[in-house]
Formats: sequence, structure tokens, C-alpha cells
Amino acid sequence: MGFFDELAARNPTASPTKRWIYAPYDQLTASVGPLAEQSPGDACLLLVENPAKAARRNYHKQKLLLVLANQRNFALEQAERGVHVRYVIADDYASAVAETAAKYGPLVAMEPAERELHLDLAPAVAAGALHLVPHAGFLSTADDLQQSAGVYRMDAFYKRIRRRTGVLMDGGKPIGGRFSFDGENRLPWRPERGDPAAPKPLQFASNAVKDEVVELIERRFAGHLGTLRAELAPTTAVEATAVLEHATANLANFGPFEDAMSTASGQLFHSKLSALMNLHRVLPRDALARALSAPVPIASKEGFVRQILGWREFVWRVHRATDGFRSVPTTNALSAELPLPRAYWGTRSGLVCLDHCVGQVLATGYTHHIPRLMVLSNLATLLGISPRELTDWFWVAFEDAFDWVVEPNVLAMGTYAVGDVMTTKPYVSGAAYISKMSNFCEGCAFDPKSTCPITRFYWNFLERNREALRDNVRVKLPLAAAAKRSAADREEDGRVVGIARAKLAAGVTMVPRDFSTKTLF
Ligand SMILES: Cc1cc2nc3c(=O)[nH]c(=O)nc-3n(C[C@H](O)[C@H](O)[C@H](O)COP(=O)(O)OP(=O)(O)OC[C@H]3O[C@@H](n4cnc5c(N)ncnc54)[C@H](O)[C@@H]3O)c2cc1C
Ligand code: SF4
Repeated sequence: MGFFDELAARNPTASPTKRWIYAPYDQLTASVGPLAEQSPGDACLLLVENPAKAARRNYHKQKLLLVLANQRNFALEQAERGVHVRYVIADDYASAVAETAAKYGPLVAMEPAERELHLDLAPAVAAGALHLVPHAGFLSTADDLQQSAGVYRMDAFYKRIRRRTGVLMDGGKPIGGRFSFDGENRLPWRPERGDPAAPKPLQFASNAVKDEVVELIERRFAGHLGTLRAELAPTTAVEATAVLEHATANLANFGPFEDAMSTASGQLFHSKLSALMNLHRVLPRDALARALSAPVPIASKEGFVRQILGWREFVWRVHRATDGFRSVPTTNALSAELPLPRAYWGTRSGLVCLDHCVGQVLATGYTHHIPRLMVLSNLATLLGISPRELTDWFWVAFEDAFDWVVEPNVLAMGTYAVGDVMTTKPYVSGAAYISKMSNFCEGCAFDPKSTCPITRFYWNFLERNREALRDNVRVKLPLAAAAKRSAADREEDGRVVGIARAKLAAGVTMVPRDFSTKTLF
């Protein structure tokens, strides 16, 4: 039986006297919001599957699968609970809502997390067909985010929300004596030296909905980015809970190895909860509760809590407060204008760190935070790639990308394109960091201590941006170190960057002899 027949078989009858609720594709929950306030028999639910939205960008097939299959399974689960579900396929969200409202009366929905969906729904809101109530899926309040001299700071936000909620607090003091244990969570992961084995990534059986959506994607969105890995996609409520349990079971090792990267495990001890939390298939409050009750060291517990209660809430609030960075002075603070190289679409660059991370993203739609920040964003920033182009790449390439989360992470954290609005400095590094925190260099034709060009990229980045970063106290030391380099070294830095840019633009794989016959340092 296909999805629509299955839904018809389970669906209770519709009625205008019931409360009509619209749940956008990323509000797939009956545990908070209007759907939670209604007994199932008194609620009717509108879900809209929008092929035009799916085709709006070259979204990774894995993301299309996660969104569509979770939405369809959510429809079946709600019908099973006794909620009447109207499941509409339409190229326009507002019209689908307005049509339903014309038949049954106005609908209610939580305000969209995505700015884009806000705009898409505006006509239905303006026409009175849709009434928006506050989003109940997030954990922060507007007051938690405070601006000071035009900037937002995650540290202050996090402390405020910890104090307000009492999470990991004891009598007004942070448990463990500190708000952040970040400094302890920076170990590389070397299983050959006795570090714990990485857990196997979860795999999920097929189900009728998933199979049908896979077939739909291969038929209608065959040209979209990436590889479909149906077995890696959780698509039911039960599977979403399994991901949460898996994350909790591995939480003890999350902290220490949070920043580690390895070709042997792309996920390591990370939760892979972002896609499910962004769809509200897993609620942040539930992820938080599990972490808080897990018997794990404080460094791991606090590290995970900071991701969910801190960073995730912070980026959402900043995105809203700045209207998606439309109200900030600049979105290209470092005047980076180069086009995104083909290496980000899978052409081999010869830099194994970059090629490995891109390969993982194209194959799965996922990497954890550090490959995103310290490889994919770092290299683009060092080379002067357009932050907007990089953001648009992240947006299509990752299974968990939605405007409110991808834009702050790339435009602010990853590239410093909005200057110090959200972060205090650019997160950039040379080869030493990548070599320390990963095993990527072991399989690379370049040597991180001699022939690798990335450290030259780093010095050249500082030199190029000396003026733009002049007043930034956190970059003072690196700028001073860069200033001490000889004129010959600075010239060589520029030459190496020039060669790398040309090779990347041409889509040519780089090898050590491209740069010099001697070592680079
Ligand atoms: C350049 C760049 C782009 C990013 N793009 C996205 C994106 O499109 N979508 C997305 O959800 N996250 C994004 N992030 C944030 C973060 O990298 C991912 O949320 C995380 O890697 C997802 O993997 P995980 O679920 O295994 O996370 P874990 O390491 O297990 O962390 C737990 C949870 O904390 C939350 N979290 C942690 N850091 C952040 C953060 N900076 N912003 C928001 N949530 C956070 C996520 O919900 C995550 O599931 C990006 C980060 C960077 C540096
Ligand atoms: S040697 Fe350089 S290019 Fe190669 S993996 Fe290491 S850091 Fe990356």
C-alpha cells in the first residue's frame, strides 16, 4: 500500500469544528505547541509537501529523504493517534494553508524557525488564514539574548540561560565550579594508542514510506547533490528515539574527543542529532534531559549541554534578531570574493583533509563540527573564498542545514564575514592544528611540517587582513607573529597562495612539486 492509501486507511474524519493546526516540515512533534495542547480527537493537522521547495536548491538527497520521509511517517503516526491529517502536495505553502482555511476555518501554527518559511507563509498570515503562536521547540527566551555595543556573545548568553533555567547549577554556582569545560575537551583520538573504540554508526531498516520516498527522490530529484544512504536515515519516531539513546550511551567520550577528526570514523562520539532536532523529531528539551541524567563526567555533560542550550539556541536567536544578518553592517568583513573551488563539489584538490571532509559530506550529508569549522570553513577563509558562496554550499550539502542555523554558523563562526557580531575572532589555523587533531596528514602527499601549503595560507591570510583585523585584541598575537616573518617568507606565502588558488580554480589536483622543489618552511 502506498503512503496516501495507508494514510486514508488510518485517517479519522475531518471536521471544521476541530482545531486545525498546520505543522511545517520542521515542526514534526506532538509533544509541544498546538498539537500538544489538543486531544488527538479534537485536532486536525495540515502537512504540506512542497516539490518546488525541494527543488529550490540543489539540496543533498539525504536531506530530502530525511525531511520527506519523516514528514510522511509523522503523518501516519498522527493519524494512528487519532488526529485527522490532511496531507497536501503543493508548490506554495501559503496557498495550501489558505485553501484549507477556506474549507475548515483558520489554522494555527508555531512560528517558523526558518526565515524563508516565514516569508513563504506571509500571505496566509496576512489573509487571516494562519495564526502564528511562539515556537515552543526552543529553550531560550528573547531576553536571554542581549546585545552589547552591537555584538552578541555566546558566553554571556549561555551563562544567562544556565542561571535562568538552573541547568547544571547549584545554589547560583555552576556545577563543577566553571560554566565551560571546553579547555578539557580537546584531545585527538588515537585508538592505536589506547583511546576508546568509536561506536558503529546506527543503521535503520527500510520501511514502506522510506522506500517510496527513495524512489521519489531518485525519480524527481535524481540530479541533486550527494549519494542517498537510506540505511543511515532515521525516519520514524522510534528511530529518532534510538538516535537519542545512542547519543546518550556515547556521551562519556563526547567531551574529551569532541574536537578530534579521523578517517576511521566520521561521527566519533558525536550525537548526529542535529537533523532530527532541526525537524523537531527529537526535542532539544529531551536531548538536554537525557544528557543531564546520564552518569558521565562533567566535562562531557557540560560540553554537550553547551552545544544544545548554548550554541544551538544562540545561533537561532542571533539569526532572528538580525533578520538573517540583513541588519548587520557587513556580510563580507574580510572582502573575500573568490568563487568556491570545484574541490567542494568533489574534484580532488590533493589536500587530503579537504578532500576527505568533502567526500564524507557528499557521501552522507554529515560531518561533525570540527571538520565543518577547521577544515571546510578554515580553508575557504584562508584562501579568500566568498562567504556567501560557501554558505550556499553548506546549505545544500548538509542534511541538517536550514537558514537559521547554517547562516550564523558559516557567515559568523566559520568565515568571520559579519565581523565580530557573533564571534570574537576568525577561527583559522595552519596545518599544525589539522595534523594534531586528525589522522588526515598520514595519507597525504604533503607533509604538515614541511611541504603542506596550508600554513603559508594562514600567514598570508593574516597579512592580507592585517588592516581589517588591526583592532581585534584576540588576533593581536598572531598578527605580531606574522609581522616578524621576513619579507622573503611573506613573498613566498603569497606565491604559494597564488599557485593554490590557480590550481583550485582549474580543478587540478595539487602535488608538492607544484609549490617548490625545496620544502616550504
Ligand atoms: C561552518 C559550520 C556550518 C554548520 N552548519 C550547520 C547546519 O547547517 N545545521 C546544523 O544543525 N548545525 C550546523 N553547524 C553546527 C554543528 O556543526 C552541527 O550542529 C553539528 O556538527 C551536528 O552534528 P551532531 O548532531 O553530531 O552534533 P553534536 O556534536 O553531537 O552536538 C549536539 C548538538 O548540538 C547542536 N549544536 C552544536 N553546535 C551547534 C552550532 N554551532 N549551531 C547550532 N547547533 C549546534 C546540534 O543540534 C547538535 O546536534 C555548523 C557548524 C559550522 C562550523
Ligand atoms: S598535510 Fe596539509 S593538506 Fe595534507 S592533510 Fe595534512 S594539513 Fe591537510
